[in-house]
Amino acid sequence: MIRPLLLQLARFADATSQSLARHPRRIMGGLGVLLLGTGVTAFGIAPLAPDAADLPVRQVVEALDTPALIQSNLAPLTDVQPLVLFRTETTRRDDTAQSLLQRLGVVDPQAQAFLRSDPTARQLLSGRAGRLVSVETTDRQSLLRLTSRWLTSTEGNTFTRLVVEATPSGGYASRLEQGQLTASARLASGVIRSSLFAATDEANIPDSVAVQLAEMFSSNIDFRRDLRQGDRFSVVFESLEADGESLRTGRVLSAEFVNNGRTHAGVWFEEPGHKGGYYGFDGQSSRRYYLSSPLEFTRVSSGYGVRFHPISGERKAHLGVDYAAPTGTPVRTIGDGTVEFAGVQRGYGNVIYVRHRNNQTTVYAHLSRIGVRTGQRVSQGEFIGNVGSTGASTGPHLHLEFRDNGVHMDPLEIARQSEAIPLPAELRRRFDAIAQLQRMQLDAAATVQQASAE
Ligand SMILES: [Zn+2]
Repeated sequence: MIRPLLLQLARFADATSQSLARHPRRIMGGLGVLLLGTGVTAFGIAPLAPDAADLPVRQVVEALDTPALIQSNLAPLTDVQPLVLFRTETTRRDDTAQSLLQRLGVVDPQAQAFLRSDPTARQLLSGRAGRLVSVETTDRQSLLRLTSRWLTSTEGNTFTRLVVEATPSGGYASRLEQGQLTASARLASGVIRSSLFAATDEANIPDSVAVQLAEMFSSNIDFRRDLRQGDRFSVVFESLEADGESLRTGRVLSAEFVNNGRTHAGVWFEEPGHKGGYYGFDGQSSRRYYLSSPLEFTRVSSGYGVRFHPISGERKAHLGVDYAAPTGTPVRTIGDGTVEFAGVQRGYGNVIYVRHRNNQTTVYAHLSRIGVRTGQRVSQGEFIGNVGSTGASTGPHLHLEFRDNGVHMDPLEIARQSEAIPLPAELRRRFDAIAQLQRMQLDAAATVQQASAE
């Protein structure tokens, strides 16, 4: 049986060997905890290395040579140094200093009192739950050191590190430090059994990665309708880390999706002065002039179907596609253009017309809210309003029409047919270097999946 597996990547081996020189005993304990805690069978190094000049050509998945590291740095057993114990836990909603320390195996009334009363230390439990907290304790369960990290803000690339340490005088001191998040690549793969989100959940892949996967392949695969049992995928995504701990998921850097026997692959490419986007490994952009869906794929919307009304079907009155979605779901324009009309019309209710190139127009109807003004320029994917049930509508849904010189067309067909936006020729060499690195990493993700299946 094939089991999806998340291969955690970090510059773990490097960081460890450097720290070992400084703190042999402490790191040894930490290493043991980390290896036990993750249960991951192979470690790899996958630098993001956007610079083509230092693209590494080396084996991506390699076993960490733990015994050698430990032996060469271990103090002899006869050396009597106090034993330091390490433990890590995640904060929960309603956690108190007492409940948290209890889970961490700390039995230390003084430390507990400090976490309750010290204004800096109190920030640990006053913020959002789910923070990773690490402690070092004596073998008598008293606290030596506590650390935790969290994002300084929801945007931006800095994190805050809280350190609480025992002082020589027998008390505790706390401090907050600011650090820069570092980006590293994570590899993962999965197999579809029911839905995309079920597969990504099983592989411990964050929701934002699932959404990005659905978006990047949306012109080839309709994730609400086209998925088959046994479809599989590999993905490389950015993880923004603080001291090796992932605090935020970044962009999908590359992915491969096998749908119904057909392989689709894409790689992210961005250069200064050039709009970033996904390209096939052959350099063909997967960005189209029109998106295949005016609604972003989400966990909620994935449970809703698209209701098709064929253009020349029995229901001649209906000339578009209906997307069932909860009221308030954000609607985006499927292509660059100018808002030709934004207001109320009989039947359509709140409606937006967007005029695109070549006298093509898209119409978004039954909106609960309009987010643009007539005459406003909009670019592909930009928010324009919210799903509703205004006008002649029986329930919350978005009604989308595509008109080519006034003639109604099937928007989904148009999206699939619209020609790709090409990669500028002068960027080709840069692109090839990045694509080569991403190809290696994707292959590594697939290898790990096969290895765990055996
Ligand atoms: Zn409709």
